Amino acid sequence: MEVFVENLAAYFLVGIFIAIVLFYYLKSKKRQSVSTEAKIQKAIEYGFHEPVSLHPVIDYDICIGSGACVAACPEKDILGLVNGKAKTINASHCVGHGACFHACPVQAISLVMGTEKRGVELPHVSQYYETNVPGVFIAGELGGMGLIKNAVEQGKLAMENITGKLKNFSKSKLDVIIVGAGPSGISASLTAKKNNLNFITLEQDTLGGTVFAFPRAKVVMTSPMELPLHGRVKLTETSKIELLKLWHDVLNKNNIKINESEKVLEINKHEGMFEVVTSKQTYETSTVLLTIGRRGSPRKLGVPGEEKEKVTYRLLEPELIHDKNILVVGGGDSAIESALLLAEEKNNVTLSYRGESFSRLKPKNLDKINNAGKNKTIKVILNSNVKEILDDSIIIESKEEGTASLENDLVYIFAGGELPNKFLEKIGIRITKKFGETILKH
Ligand SMILES: Cc1cc2nc3c(=O)[nH]c(=O)nc-3n(C[C@H](O)[C@H](O)[C@H](O)COP(=O)(O)OP(=O)(O)OC[C@H]3O[C@@H](n4cnc5c(N)ncnc54)[C@H](O)[C@@H]3O)c2cc1C
Repeated sequence: MEVFVENLAAYFLVGIFIAIVLFYYLKSKKRQSVSTEAKIQKAIEYGFHEPVSLHPVIDYDICIGSGACVAACPEKDILGLVNGKAKTINASHCVGHGACFHACPVQAISLVMGTEKRGVELPHVSQYYETNVPGVFIAGELGGMGLIKNAVEQGKLAMENITGKLKNFSKSKLDVIIVGAGPSGISASLTAKKNNLNFITLEQDTLGGTVFAFPRAKVVMTSPMELPLHGRVKLTETSKIELLKLWHDVLNKNNIKINESEKVLEINKHEGMFEVVTSKQTYETSTVLLTIGRRGSPRKLGVPGEEKEKVTYRLLEPELIHDKNILVVGGGDSAIESALLLAEEKNNVTLSYRGESFSRLKPKNLDKINNAGKNKTIKVILNSNVKEILDDSIIIESKEEGTASLENDLVYIFAGGELPNKFLEKIGIRITKKFGETILKH
């Protein structure tokens, strides 16, 4: 009898323990669901819920709500859990590296391009990476496939195809011009070297492409990749610096020089060959490989003085900039985040935006910039336009203050980007809209 009572008491205690754990588990799940649902509502309100490009789509019949996808995504609040299932929150902020796709233990995630409502325009590319303009090829994210690994793979395959098809094209001094030196262009350049082609690689900015401009130091490599003339790269998680160093080292070792700060403006067919017009000169080539990604070129203001060295279109290493008079131009998240970071580093920051008020900002950024304006840690000038950029000052015109001259050391312009579609259409490349086409599926 005594043993029976003891056992009963033990079972009772274990039962109570399990009930308490279950209670707190369900409570935390409930809290998580409520918080995710609130975030989804906010994302809908601010226009971030609808995806704009590649994004995860969850199969709810398979999803077990493990949360592995939420934990794997280094971008904040793209995914969350509601009632034990993964849901997209700010799907428009997805950068398409597919960490969630690989992390899902039950393969419930596919990566889809565009949605039924919002299509994504993509160029026509054959299985050989050739466009409808014979001799012009496309690889990497421009063709619709994000991820460093995929860009590297496609750059290599496209260049192998170009090598095999060269005899079909008019002979020129250059066999191929590679446009863009992101992961895809780098891999294509290494393959061109391996195949003894005469080639040049033109980059409007700096070697590394989108990776160079990452706002975070961490790079997620979801699976190993094969880098031509180097071999297998087995990095699952690495830093931006480490990856850029690897690319620099491999290119240097193989005597490949990338023409940086040389933007391709036009590509014309001329006597069976291609005339490639850049910001510096004109080249002739048998074929062209476009590896220009999908981020386009920064939009310029078109004001006198914009060509000065102190003017840039992205912010790298704000922690190294102190005690400067800085003008940030723009009203989007990039402009606001940059202005805030620069102000934190004890710079004297002015933010000029041509709009009447800020719209479509991340809620946190909107709060922060309104506070910074009130506290005068940033001088915010709405309804304003930059008129001229001089060596030590800028001329700015605004509704409230008229024309004013401000002391200035640095100018950061975030006026959006010119997407590559116009450039492609001018070459004659056909573009079609994809309405929810699955790009990656298990
Ligand atoms: C914030 C962010 C985080 C990401 N994180 C990851 C990650 O962790 N892991 C991952 O696998 N992927 C990640 N991605 C995606 C990855 O960066 C891209 O898929 C990849 O860089 C695409 O490579 P690409 O070579 O096709 O194009 P890009 O890297 O975009 O390179 C294109 C290059 O072409 C140049 N160019 C464009 N137009 C011209 C022109 N007219 N003339 C000359 N040059 C031109 C550009 O300056 C650029 O250097 C991330 C993307 C973003 C935005």
